[in-house]
Amino acid sequence: MIAEFENEIREAYPEGITWQKTIPTFHPESAEEAADIFRRSGKYGQKIFISGFGNNIDPVGDRFADWMVIKSDRLNDIKNIVPPDFYITVGAGYPLKEINQVIDEKNLWFPFSRSNYPGSCGGALAVGLAGNDGDHTVPLSRYLLSVTAVLPDGSIVSPGAKTFKSVSGYDISRIFFNSWGTVGLVTELTFRVLPLSKLDQSPHLALLGPDKKAFEEDIEGDSTLSEVCRRIRNEYDPGHLLQTA
Ligand SMILES: Cc1cc2nc3c(=O)[nH]c(=O)nc-3n(C[C@H](O)[C@H](O)[C@H](O)COP(=O)(O)OP(=O)(O)OC[C@H]3O[C@@H](n4cnc5c(N)ncnc54)[C@H](O)[C@@H]3O)c2cc1C
Repeated sequence: MIAEFENEIREAYPEGITWQKTIPTFHPESAEEAADIFRRSGKYGQKIFISGFGNNIDPVGDRFADWMVIKSDRLNDIKNIVPPDFYITVGAGYPLKEINQVIDEKNLWFPFSRSNYPGSCGGALAVGLAGNDGDHTVPLSRYLLSVTAVLPDGSIVSPGAKTFKSVSGYDISRIFFNSWGTVGLVTELTFRVLPLSKLDQSPHLALLGPDKKAFEEDIEGDSTLSEVCRRIRNEYDPGHLLQTA
């Protein structure tokens, strides 16, 4: 990590940084804090790797020697549960499999939480989590109503606030689904949930393993989504602070 940057961060956020397996790791407690870290990183050209629980994917090896991790584990609160409108808003570091534990008493349930998935909600979106209902592949993004995210230039994208200027109208949930930390840090997600009374009639989702290879091929591809992601990266990450694949 760049020494001047480290000094600045330690002074501004004495409790914010830890060394996990020797990797400097910042734990933002809000989108605003993450935005501030991104802005400061931009000033020094500090490279950043976004992490959920870092279950299986950690930035290790020479390639990442000077990088800093931003980890979502302190963005782990339930923001809002609104039974009449069937939605829940959680921090990106909330464990996906624990959603049903908090909405069960409100007579609600969430299909992707009916599993032993070990990751965070933000990580699940970023790896493009999907399940099979016996007939079809069901992506997690089908249940995503909105996200709040911090972009590498320090801007915060959220419903009703800033949206991407260059891709206005584009469904933001699709941009972060399968983005593998290359677009920005998801800090908050709102999921559509279902009435518990329908649980018996709903097929069980068998979760599918993430396909990073497909992502790596797609990110350079000529689909509209690939083009949109490249445009966002050029506009909001001109210093290439984030990992690219
Ligand atoms: C059936 C099944 C099979 C699986 N098989 C494998 C396997 O073979 N190999 C394997 O590695 N894992 C596997 N997993 C686990 C799954 O990949 C991890 O749980 C996943 O990595 C998400 O965990 P995490 O939240 O800790 O995210 P991390 O592992 O920390 O991060 C995963 C990716 O998401 C990005 N990311 C995380 N959080 C955010 C955020 N808030 N905003 C933006 N980007 C973010 C990271 O940059 C990284 O690219 C499997 C899961 C299932 C259900």
